[in-house]
Amino acid sequence: MKIWISAFLGFKVCAAALAMLHHPWAAVCVFFAPDPWIFMQFVLPSQQAFGPAATCFETRQREVWLTIDDGPDPASTPHVLELLKAHGARATFFVIGTQVAKHPELARRIVSEGHTIGNHTHSHPSASFWCASPARIASEIDGCVGALLLADAPFERFFRPPVGVRNPFLAAQLEDRGMEQVLWSARGRDGGPGSPEAAMGRIAGRLCPGAILLAHEAGDRPGPRLTFVGLLLDHLSREGYACVLPARSALRTGAGGPTPP
Ligand SMILES: [Zn+2]
Repeated sequence: MKIWISAFLGFKVCAAALAMLHHPWAAVCVFFAPDPWIFMQFVLPSQQAFGPAATCFETRQREVWLTIDDGPDPASTPHVLELLKAHGARATFFVIGTQVAKHPELARRIVSEGHTIGNHTHSHPSASFWCASPARIASEIDGCVGALLLADAPFERFFRPPVGVRNPFLAAQLEDRGMEQVLWSARGRDGGPGSPEAAMGRIAGRLCPGAILLAHEAGDRPGPRLTFVGLLLDHLSREGYACVLPARSALRTGAGGPTPP
């Protein structure tokens, strides 16, 4: 059993013992003491207790890895590809299996234009992936793989969970398939309700060589998401950053990520 599971259960057992010894407030405090730490494991890319997740890559050049989630979609993917071409940029698209099944030609086009594809689950269960069973996780990963195989679109063995929220059973499933979990160093929260300019302001302060950048396409706000990708690519060009596809061996995990200036 992993150390963090033992420690977590230990807190709960101690709380039960305190309750039986008639120390109710101490029992409540001890019972909930590890919960903030557990919550951080689910949501913070730098935390690694649930398994390794890449958050940056090793480079001595002014390079970043741009990753774009939630496609493919005819309302956005062709425009994103045009923007990337205009900037001479390469990116990895973390695609949703059901979208690939609907638009297989777009998945093939992504690769034919020099970009790569990663796995972003089959149905993007953003509200429930954190508590999915091992069988459900396997079905989400393999469903997306199946859609990509049917589409005849080559793909990398990279996986990103929906909204970046992890699951304690995920690492074992990825290891079985020789896959690597990829999160990010910086994001603008462009999937939320704010403006693309505000999202740009948030991500700009986190840029540094070796950063993994998160952007989105498709969804119910394709316009603002596209605007954000354009703003980001313009900013990267002005700052002299190249968008590259790092080798898997260059990926780094956890809190040892790049430090923004
Ligand atoms: Zn997503």
